[in-house]
Amino acid sequence: MAQPQMRRAIESGVPDNQQYLHPLLKKNYGNWKYHDRPRPGVLHHVAHGGDEVWTVRAGTQRQMDVYTIRRLCDIADQYAEGHVRFTIRSNIEFMLSSEAKVAPLVAALEKNGFPVGGTGNSVSMIAHTQGWLHCDIPGTDASGAVKALMDELIDEFRKEEMPNRVHLSTSCCEINCGGQADIAIIIQHTKPPKINHDLVANVCERPAVVARCPVAAIRPALVNGKPSLEVDEKKCICCGACYPPCPPMQINDPEHSKFAIWVGGKNSNARAKPTFMKMVAAGIPNNPPRWPEVSEVVKRILYVYKDDARPWERLSDWVERIGWPRFFEKTDLPSPST
Ligand code: SF4
Ligand code: SF4
Repeated sequence: MAQPQMRRAIESGVPDNQQYLHPLLKKNYGNWKYHDRPRPGVLHHVAHGGDEVWTVRAGTQRQMDVYTIRRLCDIADQYAEGHVRFTIRSNIEFMLSSEAKVAPLVAALEKNGFPVGGTGNSVSMIAHTQGWLHCDIPGTDASGAVKALMDELIDEFRKEEMPNRVHLSTSCCEINCGGQADIAIIIQHTKPPKINHDLVANVCERPAVVARCPVAAIRPALVNGKPSLEVDEKKCICCGACYPPCPPMQINDPEHSKFAIWVGGKNSNARAKPTFMKMVAAGIPNNPPRWPEVSEVVKRILYVYKDDARPWERLSDWVERIGWPRFFEKTDLPSPST
């Protein structure tokens, strides 16, 4: 008799998502006829076989405590059908098999402080980087800057009144794990790292730190008779890459770590090719707890885009059409060429 074949465990990659799908999504996977949006924050999918699914999207704060997650799960059990998923911009989505369940779910989410929106041509929830919770090198509190800005932009999340979708992101160092966005807020160091020579020999692997520098500005050195490092400040581009492998090379500074704003990045290839974002404002103070200077520049760019872009132009398409000189003129930001 043939021996049963043992199935080998797969030790890498994400688990099969089919086991977590709402039953109607699983049944109609890849077999949808069309979808529409009955209201901002609600998607309606119709399958070729006639099944219909309503999806309600709500904003979350991304970094959630266990009580918030339990509250969202209770809402899913009580008002939805026990299935949720998260989008890459930290929105949560609840799937429903009946239109009658949409309004009670929306009311429950809003009552519990989760705004419903973020679909179509709205400002989606801001993608922000791990920050203090998971990373050891942040130069600011990315989630704090997001909270302050979203407090002011929440109506643009709830409505669909932008020319096209707007993705925002915040990154707490120049490694920028927040990625591309229509408008990105990124920390910018403006002075070379300060070295604590007493600690380097105990904490840092000097060859690894030397190899990290993209412009070869770091050299091994003996300081006060101890092995340490030195930085050629004329070469240093203040990128901060040496700080993660060698914390005694401190680059975060309350005055000299600033914010910069970049615009026009997108990953999608709908209508036009993906684009890299470009820096349009720099030297903005890292000013907790509400970062008003950052919010002011972002809102200025956002509302000029809203007024001036043609329907369905992404921010990068709009800049491409009007040109960078007109962009700086219209937003009243100092142009790098002046
Ligand atoms: S942006 Fe930089 S500091 Fe912030 S989480 Fe990512 S790597 Fe860490
Ligand atoms: S901040 Fe960047 S450029 Fe400057 S020394 Fe460190 S790694 Fe090199």
